[in-house]
Amino acid sequence: MTYKPRTFSISNVSRSAGEGVLDVPSLSVLRYKSPAVLLKEFKDTWGVEARAIALPVAEADGLLYEVDGLGGVPLSSHAQPSRTLKGFEDVVEEFLGAKKDIILTFCPTMGYIPGEGLQICDISGVMSPQPCIANPRSTEVLGAILGTGIDIVQQIASRKPGSGLIGIALDVTDLWGMSGQLGRVEATCFCTACTRHFAATTPELLKYFKTFPNPWSLLLRPTPTGIDFASEVSPGITPEEIVGIARQRNYIEQFPKSEQSELLEYANLLLRYMRSRQSLTLGAVGALFDYATQDLDNKFTRILIMEGETYGWTSGIWLEDLDNEFQDEENRSFDELWLNVTTGYIPRSVPYRAYMWRRSRYTINNFFDLAGSLSSASMRANTMLSQMSSEECRRLVADRWQRVHGSALSSQAALVSLPHRSGDGETGAHVRRGFVGVGLDREFGDRFSDQMVILPSHADNAARPVDFDFSSILRNMQGKNGN
Ligand SMILES: [Zn+2]
Repeated sequence: MTYKPRTFSISNVSRSAGEGVLDVPSLSVLRYKSPAVLLKEFKDTWGVEARAIALPVAEADGLLYEVDGLGGVPLSSHAQPSRTLKGFEDVVEEFLGAKKDIILTFCPTMGYIPGEGLQICDISGVMSPQPCIANPRSTEVLGAILGTGIDIVQQIASRKPGSGLIGIALDVTDLWGMSGQLGRVEATCFCTACTRHFAATTPELLKYFKTFPNPWSLLLRPTPTGIDFASEVSPGITPEEIVGIARQRNYIEQFPKSEQSELLEYANLLLRYMRSRQSLTLGAVGALFDYATQDLDNKFTRILIMEGETYGWTSGIWLEDLDNEFQDEENRSFDELWLNVTTGYIPRSVPYRAYMWRRSRYTINNFFDLAGSLSSASMRANTMLSQMSSEECRRLVADRWQRVHGSALSSQAALVSLPHRSGDGETGAHVRRGFVGVGLDREFGDRFSDQMVILPSHADNAARPVDFDFSSILRNMQGKNGN
């Protein structure tokens, strides 16, 4: 008698995974892999076909197509991904031709949009290169970039019946930067638009953030490698709980002279600021979606790409509040979330897809930002990267990719841990639509860094002491620490 192996329930994982979306975060991916190869690898990895393809409308180093009114803004070095794919239009055409729907993704924190008036402004009035999403003028510029992409896809799709544009996704993982040193946390934007918003909604509040130490230090703590943050911050947290966290993590060492009553007052101010900025952010997101889709009859799924933390420190949004806002059908500004499913908050009302990368797009963006700043003279000059030779930069990028890829959740087995989709009566079970698999593999970093265009800097010629300290350079490129 032959022995018949049994079937275990997890072997259904691909069937219960839901709809798969293939995310191509940068067109540089298509230099090494054709659309057909990417689609085949997706099927091989996840066991299901990709239903839709997510394509970017802009890259960290420039635009992917000309946008009327933005003459002079550089085109990305990935705007022509390969010899056969000569531009964004060719990529869209190829995927639509493969009968795949398109979702356009847009990360609005690009450093190449000119005009100081649009940018994030720090405590001392210094502008950072990224536009502040709260500025209505940014909405027009960013909306035109996304809107032009929508028009391009719609135009091509009108000649290819059967598939088309189904969604637009805003990557909100890094709208609000954080930096600083111990006791001097910088996480507030003081641009004219933000200042006006706070003056109108919570007068007097902003002045408490214009000094050091300010209320942020209760939940944020700068370290030599980045900003540590408290992740267990729910929307219902009380000032007492905030001070408790600050004591437990010893963040209160940033307030050397403060008594409990003062710390509670700081916690109160912090909560008011976080709530006010959340409504500012969601309003700006809604305005951007509206502007990009104005005068169109089609309704596209409006997606927010989030990290998946209970409170998104650099998105300025509580996940749980998105659930509540979603129930307000008249006024909600989004239809779906993409997030890394963590042990924190899992959406109960908003339909979502599991983004199969830890911290979702946050670390992926950091990688492309780093690479993008090496190919732009002004961006490179503004960072400590100007002190590194081209070869050192190339090595830095390849090494950074290895670390970023360590967060990939790219295997069928990773689907097993996702919340169920329906049938078992679990809370929140039905709202997960599917998952997003990322078209980036471990080898990508070496290939990408080999072919990267790096502008030579004076460091390529100058002699430098042998014991030059690179770690100080990396320390100066601060971001959020992982937990
Ligand atoms: Zn601002």
